[in-house]
Amino acid sequence: MAETPYDTDNIFAKILRGEIPSHRVYEDEAVVAFMDVMPQGPGHTLVVPKAPSRNLLDADPSTFGPLFTVVQKVARAVKRGFGADGVTVMQFNEPASGQTVYHLHVHVIPRFDGIPLKPHTGGMEKPEVLAQNAEKIRAALRS
Ligand code: AMP
Repeated sequence: MAETPYDTDNIFAKILRGEIPSHRVYEDEAVVAFMDVMPQGPGHTLVVPKAPSRNLLDADPSTFGPLFTVVQKVARAVKRGFGADGVTVMQFNEPASGQTVYHLHVHVIPRFDGIPLKPHTGGMEKPEVLAQNAEKIRAALRS
C-alpha cells in the first residue's frame, strides 16, 4: 500500500510557520520546542524538527541528530525546572500507535515518583498555566 504523504496543513506545520500560536520554549535552525496544549503532566513539551516528515518512518535520518540533541536539552531543562524525579520521552508513528498530529515530534514529560501520566490528548490546559510552565523551562534552559 502507498505511504500517506506529508500534509503541509497539519497543525504543527502551521505552528512552525507562525500561523497559529504556541508557547515556544526553544528554537534553533532545525528544531522548535513548545508546550503541549493537552499535557499528560505539568511541563509536557513537544520537540519538533522543522524539516517536514509525517513521523519517524519517513524522516530523513539527518533529522535525528539535531532533533535528539534538543530532546536531551529539553529533558534536562524540564527535570531541573520542575524538580522532577525522571523524564518520559515518547514518540508515536501512525494512528495504530496513538499518533494524532502528522508532523514528526517527540514528547518530553517530567515525571514524579508515584504519579501516573494523564491520558494522551486529554483535557486542554489553561493558557496562563502553559505560559507559566513555558517560562520555567526557558529559565532552566538559560541556566
Ligand atoms: P501525537 O498523538 O503523538 O501525534 O501527539 C500530538 C500532541 O499534540 C498531543 O499530545 C496533543 O495534545 C498535542 N497538540 C495538539 N494540538 C496542539 C497545539 N495546537 N499546540 C500544542 N500541542 C498540540
